[in-house]
Amino acid sequence: MRAPSVITPLDNLSRVVRGAPRIAMLAPPWIPVPPRAYGGIEAVVALLCEELASRGHDVTLFAAPGSRSAARVCTPLERAHPDDIGSALYEGDYVASVYDIIDRAAMNGEPFDVVHDHSGFTALAMAHRVSAPVVHTLHGPFDEHTRPFYERHGHKARLVAISHSQLEQAPPGVQVADAVSNPVLLEDWPLCEHKDDYLLWMGRMDPVKGAHRAIAAARRAGRRLVLAGPVQPGQHDYFARAIAPHLDGHQITFAGEVGGERRKELFARAKGFLMPIRWAEPFGMVMVEALACGTPIVAFPEGAAREIVIHGENGFHVADELEMSDAIEGLDAIDPFRCRESVAERYAVGIVVDGYEAVYDRVIRRATPRARFSDRPRPLTARRSGAAQIPHGRTGAANLEVLT
Ligand code: UDP
Repeated sequence: MRAPSVITPLDNLSRVVRGAPRIAMLAPPWIPVPPRAYGGIEAVVALLCEELASRGHDVTLFAAPGSRSAARVCTPLERAHPDDIGSALYEGDYVASVYDIIDRAAMNGEPFDVVHDHSGFTALAMAHRVSAPVVHTLHGPFDEHTRPFYERHGHKARLVAISHSQLEQAPPGVQVADAVSNPVLLEDWPLCEHKDDYLLWMGRMDPVKGAHRAIAAARRAGRRLVLAGPVQPGQHDYFARAIAPHLDGHQITFAGEVGGERRKELFARAKGFLMPIRWAEPFGMVMVEALACGTPIVAFPEGAAREIVIHGENGFHVADELEMSDAIEGLDAIDPFRCRESVAERYAVGIVVDGYEAVYDRVIRRATPRARFSDRPRPLTARRSGAAQIPHGRTGAANLEVLT
């Protein structure tokens, strides 16, 4: 079914009720969906698209070439850019191309009802210029670098946090209307009750992720540690300095970037997963993947690790490497079934998509008929004077509607 050429809130609502709003889902342009190995956001987008499509929604996935989905797939750029993550050249090209396609669809009488963006800063900064309301999932932290950006541009889309911790850190002037966690598909992850005698750390080789601290904790505990993950551009010095000297082929080993069955097996057979992060990580897919496999976590209580890890139930919170090495001794006391259950009851893909359906519903209900394409673009002078009137963020505390 196609949308009528003139959108009214009522038309849109009735289509939500019937279960078929037109959704434009924007993955980042860097890595194909689903990712073959590394790619947290791409894994989230893949799961959302599959579940939404299976529920009968009309979903178009905009993503890097090589992407596959039950949704309609559109790849505006010629290539994926796994080694250029964050490049303004490709992000600008991608978002402008996607927004052009969305506006052309509206002009042709087939407007999208909602744009759900996971692609990053450019799509949010330009969200007020596209012909459908934008939901922007916050995949990064609020920190000293990003705060001014969200204060200036956050009001242009409906912002969705992915954890309570991230929601709490929203600056006072930035309205984050909803919180919907990232999803995990339980069937993808094998529950393993009987563990091998090694610890696992998995992630990109960024110092904030703490591979070097995992090494220190494992060495102090006298345990084997497997490290896995990509060494991305800009991380080679850190890897050479802080990781490589400790790799001995026995106690501390490096598996490189892993995917497929190897990744599942590493998660499932590990005695415990180490998460010695030193940043306000907004979510952390590796934690829910490990827990889905029945593998407990020992984490520093930073960011979403404070809520994903329930101390004494599915792992432990520890203050530093010393406490981490002590906590490793207690891992056998954690029940693998409880680990999996702790994920199933909070992050199962069905729960998460229920949350996003409610967000889309609210956005579409509120959408006034937007400036039609023929009304835009406004002349540059008008844009400039209009920009001065855009409020720099909305005042008051965030309207907390935590959906999961
Ligand atoms: N990952 C992977 N292979 C690797 C390292 C990581 O497939 O060698 C995956 C991991 O399973 C997770 C994602 O990459 O799904 C990383 O997402 P996370 O949210 O943990 O970290 P971030 O997005 O901050 O890098």
